[in-house]
Amino acid sequence: MSIIVSKFGGTSLANGRQFLRVKDIILSNEDRKYIVASAPGKSNSEDTKVTDLLYLSYDLAKHKITFIDTLEKVFDKYKDIIKNANLDLDLSEYFNQLKIDLESGKDRDFIASRGEYLNAYILANLIGYDFVDAKDLIFFDENGNFDEKKSYNAIENMKKNHKNAVIPGFYGSMPKGNIKTFSRGGGDLTGSIISRGVKTDLYENWTDISGFMSADPRIVKNPNKIEVITYKELRELSYAGASVLHEEAIIPVTVAGIPIEIKNTFKPEEKGTLIVEDTFEKGLSEITGVSGKKHFSVINIEKVQMNKDKSFHRKLMSVLEVNGIYLEHMPSSIDSLSLIVADKYLTGKIDTLETEIKTLVNPDKISIKSNIALITVVGRGMINSVGTSAKLFTALAAAGVNINMIVQGASELNIIVGVEEKDYEKAINSIYDSFMN
Ligand code: ADP
Ligand code: ASP
Ligand code: MG
Repeated sequence: MSIIVSKFGGTSLANGRQFLRVKDIILSNEDRKYIVASAPGKSNSEDTKVTDLLYLSYDLAKHKITFIDTLEKVFDKYKDIIKNANLDLDLSEYFNQLKIDLESGKDRDFIASRGEYLNAYILANLIGYDFVDAKDLIFFDENGNFDEKKSYNAIENMKKNHKNAVIPGFYGSMPKGNIKTFSRGGGDLTGSIISRGVKTDLYENWTDISGFMSADPRIVKNPNKIEVITYKELRELSYAGASVLHEEAIIPVTVAGIPIEIKNTFKPEEKGTLIVEDTFEKGLSEITGVSGKKHFSVINIEKVQMNKDKSFHRKLMSVLEVNGIYLEHMPSSIDSLSLIVADKYLTGKIDTLETEIKTLVNPDKISIKSNIALITVVGRGMINSVGTSAKLFTALAAAGVNINMIVQGASELNIIVGVEEKDYEKAINSIYDSFMN
């Protein structure tokens, strides 16, 4: 018999009705043995995710402002789930404890983790699986990095002791036992780690859409579904902004060659997207998908004959390093280069940065342009196609979108363009129309 790991996202576990759907899905295939659960997400567009309510409760408590109304909303969500899933379960002890934890200043990650903890606990009760806490399976080292050896050992042992289990997503524990969460959307990463740890045959990621679309459905109307995509392409698209799957979730399964399937909890009968190491289909389209993100800045630096100074790049990078700024891209020409960085790293630092760059590398000119969106076009088909960039630039020109910068990855898997934020949606739609229609 094979083993399937199934991760259910926030919308899939947002209310009692959803829990019953999830129960049907899990129990309809006995291979679905290890389940990873997210905290309750939104039931409708006005709703708030439990994780956000918990972060808010924490912030209020920290500033000694009453948090009880916010926390009550969290409790109401769970009470509603229990009632509408027809469960006989009393969580009042857990609720009281959470209140005490907030009052006593327990840390932020711990408070946020309770969203998945309680949801997984309820789901385990509903389907009659064991509940196994992620704190005993997922470990970080003292620097906060994922501790592979310790975690995979623990997961292997868990598999020996539990023929099935529901595990909360999103968090694990530090060497001293305190809880640490992954970044937002990290339940996908838990699913991936558990998949590798139990040596699953398939990692199912259940969400609210029938697969990975070739563009963000919130920007392009009814985009095509991608039926099969490679790990590498998916990582590029996720990193560039397609938020279906956490960008790091690909890493553990890639090492083990485990396929991921994106499936829709609302339409379980529909085919999803399969993510695999490689595919060999013929007639591959030029691009597999397009995605993007706003809020970047371009720092343009000009200096005649900068390439004659061997230490030029090192000095420039040291300024970024000292100021804790991560570099996204660095397109260059003979006498100029651009540093593309996310706006969030520049807040309050622009003047210091400019001064330090001027002092260290003495440029002829330096300028910073903000409100840039980066759009990434991804496709393993590009390698064999001539003129992909020409087609891309023509599409953008026809839509009247000005391109601020261009980067093409050495792998020929992607082309990235920078456009002004105001043109973002228009640019994505024009690229989609040109390549997909
Ligand atoms: P979950 O709560 O199940 O983890 P997420 O909200 O994290 O789900 O991810 C699913 C959402 O990702 C979809 O509802 C959709 O709005 C958004 N999304 C963004 N880009 C894409 C894309 N290219 N294909 C499909 N969905 C996308
Ligand atoms: N609940 C967490 C979040 O909202 C993690 C997740 O959903 O994967 O980010
Ligand atoms: Mg998600």
